[in-house]
Amino acid sequence: MRALVTGGAGFLGSHLCDRLLQEGHEVLCLDNLFTGSKRNIEHLLGLPSFELIRHDVVEPILLEVDWIFNLACPASPVHYQVNPVKTVKTSVMGTLNMLGLAKRVKARILQASTSEVYGDPSEHPQTETYWGNVNPIGPRSCYDEGKRVAETLMTDYHRQNAVDVRVARIFNTYGPRMAVGDGRVVSNFIVQALNHEPITLYGDGTQTRSFCYVDDQISGLLALMHYDKPDAHEPVNIGGSEELSMLRLVEVLSEILGRPSSTVHRPLPKDDPVRRRADTTRARERLGWEPTIGLKEGLTRTVAYFRETLGV
Ligand code: NAD
Ligand code: UDP
Repeated sequence: MRALVTGGAGFLGSHLCDRLLQEGHEVLCLDNLFTGSKRNIEHLLGLPSFELIRHDVVEPILLEVDWIFNLACPASPVHYQVNPVKTVKTSVMGTLNMLGLAKRVKARILQASTSEVYGDPSEHPQTETYWGNVNPIGPRSCYDEGKRVAETLMTDYHRQNAVDVRVARIFNTYGPRMAVGDGRVVSNFIVQALNHEPITLYGDGTQTRSFCYVDDQISGLLALMHYDKPDAHEPVNIGGSEELSMLRLVEVLSEILGRPSSTVHRPLPKDDPVRRRADTTRARERLGWEPTIGLKEGLTRTVAYFRETLGV
């Protein structure tokens, strides 16, 4: 297959490029390098089956491809809130452009959606049939609503134009190649702990998430892309199912580092979801997918990456 990976120089995108190449596919990596980095893909740059295209998904592009993985979009609240209008454009116009391309060249397209489509959920854990509880006008809305429109576009292109779509609702994923300044919780906590700085806990730290290690996430995305039953266009949660609080995350990290870290409390950002856990029954039943790497193992590998990156 010739696969287009938008956002391919980012955290998840670069791991996806690696895996597609390992599986013998040709990869076109498209990125505007907003939050991504050439460093994430520099080991791929000389390969004949790999190409980097510096492009913004907000602008149309014509390429001959069989598969499209649409990952282009800043994922950390810190970055997607820098220019919220651009974030909406990236999700809405970017997805429109990629769907237009998929329709034209008859490619299968997978959209990187998010657990944020559930907002601050009033159902727990979150199954794909839950419609969510999203503030349309808050500081997270540019991301959450942008991704919800992207899901609507995917589904309407499927219904109206028979485009072969896949929608992955990705839950908090972490691992090597998260940027040092990414701003999401796992990289923040590890970088702070390794630098002997106090860990910034937002709010009282009792809010929960379920984390997924990057290798498992990529396996899930590929399993969904390969899945070919009549219900393949329906959204599928891909994420960890072990729920833990941010306070507990600090404890696990301290156990791995073999020393306690001091913490400092910061205000809880507006609309920060209180509780979140992936219900992955659909992924298990349809794709045969389950996470295989536990939190301690995944965090240990991620700590090793940041030690090397920071030189500490
Ligand atoms: P990331 O910020 O590391 O990667 C995003 C990539 O998209 C970057 O390389 C960035 O430069 C690129 N990009 C941004 N805007 C672009 C544009 N307009 N045109 C072209 N490229 C653009 O984040 P990530 O964690 O790798 O996330 C990848 C995708 O997965 C995103 O769509 C994100 O919403 C989704 N997702 C990730 C998580 C997670 O926990 N990692 C959770 C839910 C959803
Ligand atoms: N968080 C925190 N300290 C940080 C960064 C994040 O306590 O330095 C909290 C944040 O308030 C949220 C959780 O960690 O409750 C996960 O945040 P992240 O931005 O990683 O992901 P999201 O909120 O989008 O799930």
